[in-house]
Amino acid sequence: MKKFAVIGNPIAHSRSPEIHQAFARQTGIELSYEKILAPLDGFASTIKEFFALGGMGLNVTVPFKEEAFALCDILTERAQAARAVNTLWMQGDQLHGDNTDGAGLVNAISALKWPLNISRILILGAGGATRGVVLPLASAGATEIVITNRTLARAESLAEDLSVFIKNTNLHVLALDQLAGHFDLVINATSASLSGEGIALPDSLTFNYAYEMAYGKPSSFMDQAKKRDVLTADGLGMLIGQAAEAFFVWNGVKPDLTHFSL
Ligand code: NDP
Repeated sequence: MKKFAVIGNPIAHSRSPEIHQAFARQTGIELSYEKILAPLDGFASTIKEFFALGGMGLNVTVPFKEEAFALCDILTERAQAARAVNTLWMQGDQLHGDNTDGAGLVNAISALKWPLNISRILILGAGGATRGVVLPLASAGATEIVITNRTLARAESLAEDLSVFIKNTNLHVLALDQLAGHFDLVINATSASLSGEGIALPDSLTFNYAYEMAYGKPSSFMDQAKKRDVLTADGLGMLIGQAAEAFFVWNGVKPDLTHFSL
């Protein structure tokens, strides 16, 4: 039986096992898919042990995506652009890495029929998830992408890395207290909701659509969005989308998401 897992810290909240097991039933592929809690200082040794014991593939979640990128011998183009990896596998003795988050998000937003083309997008957060989605959002036609983050220097270095790959989208960074005006879409890519905290959005900020990347948890971002009476969605659609892409990378079969539900 093929052995897969998702690795992160925290990890108890992850629904990836359910999703991959549903894909396995749909496609007739026999697999196991576990959750692995890695110590914050023990990511590299944990993945080494997983593959040494015959594991075939790992999904990587908070806060290890950038560390996963740094450990890979071979990277896909989208992982190189993101400098963050959420999908790992071994080929021979080489560790391969891909980033399927962006494709998952773009597919989820498109399925909601929210416009991405010619849009002004604000992303809250500058961690691994943001790194994965900026290029796919730009490729989907965003006119402007603004990134803000608690630690501004992290957003600045992210924008600098990605600017090489981005041709037709105005990508820039603003401090939280500089945010104002109207955005088509605001995406919460902070992990603030995992710890029950949140970013206070300025009242002067308006938008039409709000996408919370986290799922299954109360979120102060969602509360603020709902008060503004905008359309909202949580990250379950993105999770299913990125999982389908990872499943394809590992198994060469694309699950059918048309009537997929958990
Ligand atoms: P990282 O740990 O790499 O980055 C976390 C980000 O959140 C950083 O920008 C950090 O800011 C910010 N942050 C954390 N706590 C706070 C806080 N209290 N206030 C303000 N900002 C905060 O995480 P990822 O980028 O990998 O993931 C981010 C989120 O996206 C998570 O909730 C994750 O579950 C979700 N996600 C969902 C996916 C899906 O498929 N639905 C896929 C990928 C991610 P700073 O730099 O200042 O520390």
